[in-house]
Amino acid sequence: MDLQDQLNQAMEAARPVLGTGRVADYIPALAAADPAAFGLALATVDGEVHGVGAWEQPFSIQSISKLFTLSLALAVGGDELWQRVGREPSGSPFNSLVQLETEHGIPRNPFINAGAVVVTDRLHSLTGDARAAVRDFLRAESGNPLLDSDSVVAASEAEHGHRNAALAHFIASYGNLENPVATVLQHYYDHCALTASCRDLALAGLFLARHGLRADGSRLLTRSEAKRINAVLLTCGTYDAAGQFAYRVGLPGKSGVGGGILAVVPGRGTLCAWGPALDPAGNSIGAVAALDAFTTATGWSVF
Ligand code: GLN
Repeated sequence: MDLQDQLNQAMEAARPVLGTGRVADYIPALAAADPAAFGLALATVDGEVHGVGAWEQPFSIQSISKLFTLSLALAVGGDELWQRVGREPSGSPFNSLVQLETEHGIPRNPFINAGAVVVTDRLHSLTGDARAAVRDFLRAESGNPLLDSDSVVAASEAEHGHRNAALAHFIASYGNLENPVATVLQHYYDHCALTASCRDLALAGLFLARHGLRADGSRLLTRSEAKRINAVLLTCGTYDAAGQFAYRVGLPGKSGVGGGILAVVPGRGTLCAWGPALDPAGNSIGAVAALDAFTTATGWSVF
């Protein structure tokens, strides 16, 4: 069976669960998404791109952006970042504050909101514009010059962002933010509100499958840095469901509450699945089902 047939079958496998679960509504601008929408894209390191369903329809990438902020912060600024954020799974929800006090303002990992805020702060210090750094990287890697942030989604999140504001201020109280809280949050909301399709994201994530090489052949990360980011994605990329995701899908992956999941098959390619209805951990039910079916049928897994 060729790869396109495998994608078609993965979508069929996911169909029964599409629309089950809840669309994220704590960001009101996301609540209008169609819970039954679905797309799945595959990009290979050899340059093949395939897709099925609404794989070219843009959606809000939300926390998938954290994979790019982390990669860019490490590429530009190196390992010093790890003095400000840990690398352990949190076992807590993505927006939790509970570990911040006992761990003295050092978030558990770069993918929970607390850790991502620190990474955005670092990237902002390193580049002068965290939002533009992420957007320009996504444009270059996806080849989509129109890719941009949705200001309505960013404003909606800012307006209802009491939790993120609370955790950012709490981190700042420990001296673990270099820029003003308001600036860091604005850039964080803006990169979360980037809008991209499964196709765009599969292409933009390929540098992790290529062991650190960008689309133009230049090196963003060393092979060992790419390995390490993939490891943190596997253990922390889907929050307190990372064990379940590893069990079912067997790949490093990053989810977002817009319903997307970007997964990396090192040395082979990337998959991006999208379905807005989420499980209680904030991961797309349809996307996990499709990735589970694809990796089970093809054996494309790190295990
Ligand atoms: N922007 C969202 C938030 O901060 C991202 C959460 C997510 O996608 N898990 O709550």
